[in-house]
Amino acid sequence: MTPHTLEVLRLLEDGEFHSGEAIGRELDITRGSVSNALAHVEEMGLSILKVHGKGYRLLTPVQWLSREAILGHLSGGARRFSLDIVDQTGSTNTDLMQAANEGAPSASVRVAEFQTRGRGRRGRDWHTGLGGALTFSVLWRFDQGAGFLSGLSLAVGVALLRVLRRRGAGDVMLKWPNDLLWRHLKLAGILIELSGDVMGPTVAVIGIGLNLRLPDAIKARIDQPVVDLVRIGIEADRNELFAAILVELDNVLGVFSSEGFAPFRGEWNDAHAYQDKMVRLRMPDKAEFEGKVEGVADDGALSIVTRTGLRKFYGGELSLRLAG
Ligand code: ATP
Repeated sequence: MTPHTLEVLRLLEDGEFHSGEAIGRELDITRGSVSNALAHVEEMGLSILKVHGKGYRLLTPVQWLSREAILGHLSGGARRFSLDIVDQTGSTNTDLMQAANEGAPSASVRVAEFQTRGRGRRGRDWHTGLGGALTFSVLWRFDQGAGFLSGLSLAVGVALLRVLRRRGAGDVMLKWPNDLLWRHLKLAGILIELSGDVMGPTVAVIGIGLNLRLPDAIKARIDQPVVDLVRIGIEADRNELFAAILVELDNVLGVFSSEGFAPFRGEWNDAHAYQDKMVRLRMPDKAEFEGKVEGVADDGALSIVTRTGLRKFYGGELSLRLAG
């Protein structure tokens, strides 16, 4: 991406042809800079049509993030979110954890049009196309220690689930501890990183990646079955959807701060894709447990009935799969 890539792409948002000359004039850059700005966007999942004598046309429908639009849709306590929108960064989680160490306040939000080093758990990659997802992080300060926060990724999942189901995504389910699935395809992921003292206070950086329109070129880089909102029939206004998620997060995090995960437990279990299913759980040391999912507990632990009895597992580094 060059410093002008997003500026040029924003002018192309209307899906009409724009000549290199007109774009250059508007942005006060040369036609060569316009061409360079668009040189690598295909690799980021966008299709551009270039026709001699007419100019450039963006074929991929994209709605760019707009501070005004997002703020305009925020309501209630979420109005105090401090919003930082960037064109490109390595990882919004990394950025916010650094900002937290430098004293950034609770409710700081960083959202990127494109992440070059988006992360999942255990250093795995999170892939998205330019402008085709919501990839963002929220910084939240808790008085309590990390033990109190063991159900946080589950509560955040409930916030996302509520927003998506209100938009008609009835088949969206949760997967312990940190994913949203649609018919067993991965739609969104949550990555929570903590810093602080054992007894508190704790800073949580809550990273969320939600697929809106995942280009085939990007999909091909992902090593598990995935899905996006367009595929499941939800054509969301990206800015309004983002604001709605922030409003619900504010709501959920407010409750979680005082009561923990317990108030969300019933809702979570009802939406668990693997409830009552036979599953295999892999530990970081590759040891595996098989059993039947009984549900999650008030602290977010997953209860599984194994051959040797009922066992509770805590999230973080564990991988859950259907058995068989
Ligand atoms: P596990 O495989 O242990 O169940 P997980 O699926 O929850 O873990 P995370 O570590 O949370 O995985 O997320 C990283 C993984 O998500 C990647 O290894 C990849 O398989 C998948 N992934 C990467 N990008 C996307 C995306 N845009 N949409 C859906 N899944 C993705």
